Amino acid sequence: MNPIHQMRSLPLSFLPISARVDFLHFLACNKPAVRTKLFHAYAKLHLEDWCNSYGLFLRVDSESFVCIARDPEVAEQILDIDRKYEPHEKLFGLLLGYPECCSDFIASIGESNIDHTEQQIIQWNFSGEFKRINPSNYLLGTSLICHLPCSSNCQPSLDLANQALDFINRYKDESCLAPWLIWVD
Ligand SMILES: [Zn+2]
Repeated sequence: MNPIHQMRSLPLSFLPISARVDFLHFLACNKPAVRTKLFHAYAKLHLEDWCNSYGLFLRVDSESFVCIARDPEVAEQILDIDRKYEPHEKLFGLLLGYPECCSDFIASIGESNIDHTEQQIIQWNFSGEFKRINPSNYLLGTSLICHLPCSSNCQPSLDLANQALDFINRYKDESCLAPWLIWVD
């Protein structure tokens, strides 16, 4: 199935705005899974329909966190890991398709410091093409990456951003990709 068809039919109005960046990576960059939160009673039904249409798997936990993956075991594992008390940032990052260096970085700062670190990261000086890995517009759903980069010149993060940007350029007339047109010259 052409990923642009999948992107077009996503029930985005039922999902957090940031989730569209995760789905962009799921469809355009072979991200293995998306984890997000359901706020709307109908969101699960719509997302389940979407998954069923494309042979994808959806798992939900008791706190309304949801994981969508191509492999049902990966979806279960991701929700399972997040309930564990011992540190799990590295494995969690890898299962969600984040670069290893960035998963190591998050593991080294610890989950409880993520918000503080995020505030610092968005002040970093991202220059040239590395502006594409600035995660500050993630919550607005217009960033090109859906993880926190380990540095302002992380090459694996730039590779992911470029993959997403190639997809956006290829289908830039599609209204579902309009949020990212700020990146297209
Ligand atoms: Zn990195």
